[in-house]
Amino acid sequence: MKLKKENTIEDFQVKSLEKDTIKTDEFTSAFEYASIGIGLVSLEGRFLKVNKSLCELLGYTAEEFIHLTFQEITHPDDLEGDLENVYKLINDEIENYQIEKRYFTKSGNVIWINLSGSKVKNLDGTFKYFIAQIENITPRKNAFNQITKQNLRIQNILEGTNAGTWEWNVQTGETNFNARWAEMIGYTLEELEPINIKTWEKFVHPEDALKSEQNLIACFEKKSQYYNCECRMQHKDGNWIWVLDRGKVMTWTEDGKPLMMFGTHTEITNLKETKIELRKSKAFLDTVMNSIDVGIVVCDQNGKLTTFNQSAEEMQGIPFKPVESKDWSANYSLLRTDGITPLPLEEIPLYRALKNGHLENAEFIIQHQSGKQIILSCNGNQIWDQNKNLLGAVVAMTDITEIKKATKLNEEIAIKFKGIFDSTFQFIGFLSPDGTLLEANQTAIDFTGLEPDDLIGKKFWDCYWWSMSEETQEGLKSNIAKAAKGEFVQYEVEVLGKNGSITILFNLKPLFDLSGEVIAIIPEGRPIQEIVDTRNALLRKNEELERFASVASHDLKEPLRMISSFMSLLKKNYGGQIDEKAEKYIHFSIDAANRMTILINDLLNYAKIGNDEVPFVMIDTNQLLEEIVPLFSASLEDQNGKIEIENLPNIIGKITPIKTLFQNLIGNALKYQKPNTSPLIRVKGKEKMSDWEFCVEDNGIGIAAHHFEEIFQMFRRLHSKEEYSGTGMGLATCNKIIKQHGGEIWLESEEEKGSKFFFTIKK
Ligand code: ADP
Repeated sequence: MKLKKENTIEDFQVKSLEKDTIKTDEFTSAFEYASIGIGLVSLEGRFLKVNKSLCELLGYTAEEFIHLTFQEITHPDDLEGDLENVYKLINDEIENYQIEKRYFTKSGNVIWINLSGSKVKNLDGTFKYFIAQIENITPRKNAFNQITKQNLRIQNILEGTNAGTWEWNVQTGETNFNARWAEMIGYTLEELEPINIKTWEKFVHPEDALKSEQNLIACFEKKSQYYNCECRMQHKDGNWIWVLDRGKVMTWTEDGKPLMMFGTHTEITNLKETKIELRKSKAFLDTVMNSIDVGIVVCDQNGKLTTFNQSAEEMQGIPFKPVESKDWSANYSLLRTDGITPLPLEEIPLYRALKNGHLENAEFIIQHQSGKQIILSCNGNQIWDQNKNLLGAVVAMTDITEIKKATKLNEEIAIKFKGIFDSTFQFIGFLSPDGTLLEANQTAIDFTGLEPDDLIGKKFWDCYWWSMSEETQEGLKSNIAKAAKGEFVQYEVEVLGKNGSITILFNLKPLFDLSGEVIAIIPEGRPIQEIVDTRNALLRKNEELERFASVASHDLKEPLRMISSFMSLLKKNYGGQIDEKAEKYIHFSIDAANRMTILINDLLNYAKIGNDEVPFVMIDTNQLLEEIVPLFSASLEDQNGKIEIENLPNIIGKITPIKTLFQNLIGNALKYQKPNTSPLIRVKGKEKMSDWEFCVEDNGIGIAAHHFEEIFQMFRRLHSKEEYSGTGMGLATCNKIIKQHGGEIWLESEEEKGSKFFFTIKK
């Protein structure tokens, strides 16, 4: 701001100055052309006269200056200091002064100047004016400020990075560390005095010292510009801390040796430990990734592939390449599930995961390099960092080729099975353990003339087939309950169809899971009407036959009895009157009549087997044998024989026929013995899958293999009655009993080496 004052004392002074000393030529040009700015200033601070340099410096003309005071153009912050000096000068406390201060130029800029102030007195000693010499020091001041700022910045950086600094005279070993370095290893600088390069060497880990030396040599030989080394330093507390040393040779001796090196120390223990941890978890992750048989593929946020695990490489058959998403399909031969169409980019699971964030069970095909097609099922997700930045995406691929094949096969089997299920002649279904009909085959449904919906889902006993009578339904209900407990149930029953009723052989077969629980029941029925009819006819025939046999044998036995009693009377009454020959004939006749009686009895027994109404019951065969053996005690005693019994089970059968069976076999074993041999008979039982196997073994005369079949036929004997008594009906009877129990009978034998008769009884 300029103050316009007219006709003031200053105006007067200026005018008088013009006439005065300055007017002198020599001073005028020195004043005018001086390279520094000079101003003559009144006591109040007004510029009385200024030179060219000052005008140039501040941008005012000499005219304009006359209306200015130094106070007006001085920076307010610097004014006080300046005025202080001015007063001292006025009061003669000082001769002159020098200060650095700021001026405003005409254009409003701030410049730094160096001001030298002095005063000139009149001859009478009164104040005349100040002389102000003004030097522009803005460039120096700026440079200084710059340096100060820079220093501050470096200071801040060092503080901010918490770095220690070092200076090292490589030639003398003189070293300077700052306090931070000492602090890093738990000391103060004073504690470490005297400090030189040996101080550092004392604390560094020997292995790292060696590494550091190699790095330094590389710097000294100018092979590397910077010294960079991670070193372990021993902390005061005994632990090792990690310090990153960086530095540079800044000056060299004239003969090219390193002189001064400067650098920093940064503690990186945490970083180093984190790095070690990271390396460990990466190693762990790599091991896991490469030991699973799921293929893992990762891409970055731009769709560039970044990771393949081993399984992924194996699935592709080619090594990992960081290809862009647009090349994935072609590079890795990705196909749709039809195995023909190349997979478009937008269908590739990794791309979909990257774009949509998540995907599950996406299927596609990779054509392996070998040409084999691998069907894969994929799950995928985006990958985000902690700050919610998208990093990329990952997919996990499972090879489902075999599963697919198996599923296809299963489907085919299911279709075939359904075909068989529906076309079979039997009635087959599927029940839940509570008796609900889950499925019935076509044969069973067609039989009723109803629709599946009329039957499926109902309780089985409420279905049409069973509406014959309440008794039929109740029977089924209780048998299903038995099957639900794991029992196999079989019975004949009459069921109702659209064309009337028929008899079926009906099974309820429980289905078990691995833990043995019944999970379903399979009902199966086969029409046996014809069989039943035939069987009934047969039964009738048998009954007739039995009646015939009974009548016949009774009728035959009557005359036989007559013959033998009359023959006995003949012998008794005429014994002394007839010759020896006649007596012999009478004896033969009696004997023949007796044998005939036995034969007729055997035949009658044989005919009766299976035609009785005796029920099947549980038989403890062990106990049964205990009852049978005493029947042979006389014979065993005579022959000094022995019967051994081993491991005999409980069986289901008809008690009397089973007893006859054992009796016949043991009887034969005792009968067909070699002379002068003590009979040894073993009766054993053995559990088989679906039946019990018995064996009656003897040490008798044995049987030649070519007789094995025939001995089970009626009246078939291998010996004469003189050698061994018998009718030839024993084994035929055994055979019939076994057949009636649903079993088999056979033998193993060699002549002179004993025989083993085996038979089975259904469980
Ligand atoms: P039999 O009344 O004659 O004993 P079987 O039907 O019981 O009639 O036996 C038929 C034939 O088989 C016998 O005549 C005998 O030759 C032979 N046989 C039966 N059991 C044995 C055995 N344990 N050892 C040797 N031969 C036997």
